[in-house]
Amino acid sequence: MDDWQFGPAQELRRAFLLDDTILEPIYLYPPGKSAAVVMSVDDVFPGTSKSAYEAGGDLEKGVLGRLLWLLERHPQLQLTLFVTPDWRRISPVAHRLWRHLPWLCDRVYLASVLPKGTMDVRNHPEFVAFLNAMPRAEIAIHGLHHINQGHSVSVEFQNQNRAACAVMLAEAIRIFEESGLRYVRGLQPPGWNCGLALQQACRDVGIEWVASARDIQTPVSKDAKTAMSGLSGVSMLFPEQIAPNLVHISTNFQATSAPERAFDILDAGGILSIKAHITKNVPGYTHLDGVDDLYMNYLDRLFDDIEQRYGDAIDWTTLGRLATSLSASSPTLLSEKTATQPIAYRAA
Ligand SMILES: [Zn+2]
Repeated sequence: MDDWQFGPAQELRRAFLLDDTILEPIYLYPPGKSAAVVMSVDDVFPGTSKSAYEAGGDLEKGVLGRLLWLLERHPQLQLTLFVTPDWRRISPVAHRLWRHLPWLCDRVYLASVLPKGTMDVRNHPEFVAFLNAMPRAEIAIHGLHHINQGHSVSVEFQNQNRAACAVMLAEAIRIFEESGLRYVRGLQPPGWNCGLALQQACRDVGIEWVASARDIQTPVSKDAKTAMSGLSGVSMLFPEQIAPNLVHISTNFQATSAPERAFDILDAGGILSIKAHITKNVPGYTHLDGVDDLYMNYLDRLFDDIEQRYGDAIDWTTLGRLATSLSASSPTLLSEKTATQPIAYRAA
């Protein structure tokens, strides 16, 4: 499920960190800027209203039209759309009878899935052309098929080793390349899970940043660390280098968050990182942060308030640009040798 909770032994892991200081978050704003806003949208694929559910395939007549409305209302806003190259999930709920059978339940799909290729972006050129033409929207990678065997249907990267993860990521990249979709080298792992093998595989295939932690509960402070979905113990407010050539950026705000949380983050000089899911209702599950009129109206009002309160002091940017600027400005790029231990234990 998308709100998969990672359960790391935080204290145990911290005890193994060899040198916490070299992993401190670093971020330098452009001149005149004191905080930043990014917004990302998960689960974008070419599903239409004639499919199990619409997830972008209806183009401007569907959910992407709502995002275009928000972009038009706020000319500074930038989006990161996490697109799945060949989406196969129909429902995130394990419902098949095999779910009760030990051993077998971990080796079969426990939810209905689409055949390979149905939602492959290479077979949906209008969708690709539409995304390429969207203003101020970068595309990044959201898994390969967004499914896995076993009870956690959406958590695509679970028990695979580094090589298997790398094969999946390389296939995702190949599909994007062959489709002609313009994309940046960033990953939101489906179900938030980004273990050590996936972190290593990202670097093997040239993925430069990941967004794998969501924390919309921990009180805001410059030093706040994530402790909710995905990686825990990483900075909640700032991009952070978690391995050589791999930057992490957290999600810290969604539809259910109060506006005060956004202002607290910006007052602290942090990155306000807003999450949405492109489809509100999927079979068996409702995304609280689904792109519906209510959420878009809320963000419209919130962005008005931010523009009035902070004026030109906000860097409205994308996850990809944040990561790139961090890599370029970081004076302490980690060497492979020094980073080995901290990465392992950060992966839990
Ligand atoms: Zn997802």
